[in-house]
Amino acid sequence: MPAMKDLYGIFGDPIDHSLSPEIQAAALSLVAKQSAYLPFLVSKESLPDAFKAARALALKGFNLTLPHKEEAVKLVDELVGDAESVGAVNVVANRGGRLVGHNTDVLAVRRALEGARVSLKNERVIVLGAGGAARAAAFALGGAGAAEVIVSNRTFSRAADVANAFSQKGLEVFASPLTPAALRELVPGAKLVLNATSVGLNQAERSPLPEDALFREDAVAVDMVYRPLRTKFLRQAREQGIQSIDGLEILVQQALGALQVWLNRPIDAARLAPTMRAAALEALV
Ligand code: NAP
Repeated sequence: MPAMKDLYGIFGDPIDHSLSPEIQAAALSLVAKQSAYLPFLVSKESLPDAFKAARALALKGFNLTLPHKEEAVKLVDELVGDAESVGAVNVVANRGGRLVGHNTDVLAVRRALEGARVSLKNERVIVLGAGGAARAAAFALGGAGAAEVIVSNRTFSRAADVANAFSQKGLEVFASPLTPAALRELVPGAKLVLNATSVGLNQAERSPLPEDALFREDAVAVDMVYRPLRTKFLRQAREQGIQSIDGLEILVQQALGALQVWLNRPIDAARLAPTMRAAALEALV
């Protein structure tokens, strides 16, 4: 009989777009051979049942993707590290039946900026969106030394909620509506513009930025969306000669963080990252 496998997975709706199964399978085959990682389509209404199932089936750990990251905060037994500060969970570890919620999206944004040698000291940055990814990004950018984080969202009240929550934690976070006029005014003054809306996901010709928004010469554009990899938003940045970081870079970094949480030991990120990125690129073609 084959050895018992440790089971990992991801809950989301939709789930087909996720590359986590490919990149985690590639990584687990190197660091934890007796394991499997599966995607699960879980609707908003079914999330509590999915948590019960994870307990019953003794999943070693799982990821959460949209739209579950904020709701998961209420369903874990314990929140640790950045998950508590951000109010969003993207990684759950099963510690002997106790489900512990982590957030590795924050670390992922920080690592991606370090990798690209981006300094935000005394700078203004803009986060587009106010969902789970945006909250993690705003917290990471504030923690990375940005003087001012502007959260710009279609539903203004959600941007205001993020700004209020993080202002109470001592960060300079302001809300803005996500309108062409506001972005035309704000983008030229920003060192970094990060797209954490789902605009562009499976929509090669859609961007949250108006065509005539001008980046600063030394700006950096970051897209959390990774399908397609060359989003319209990143193409706009490149056409203006602006440095950019794609969503796959962030995805691989958050996945490395998740692996470390699940395995509860240091991992060789430099060895694993290229294998994970290659697995994702293969799945994207
Ligand atoms: P979410 O909680 O559902 O938030 C979605 C955000 O997109 C909201 O701010 C929403 O605005 C905005 N939005 C949706 N449709 C819009 C439209 N037509 N025009 C303007 N704004 C719109 O999702 P999430 O978990 O934060 O994820 C957001 C994106 O980041 C997804 O594409 C996800 O795949 C990606 N992501 C990538 C990584 C990575 O590792 N690369 C990690 C996390 C997430 P409203 O508030 O007005 O609805």
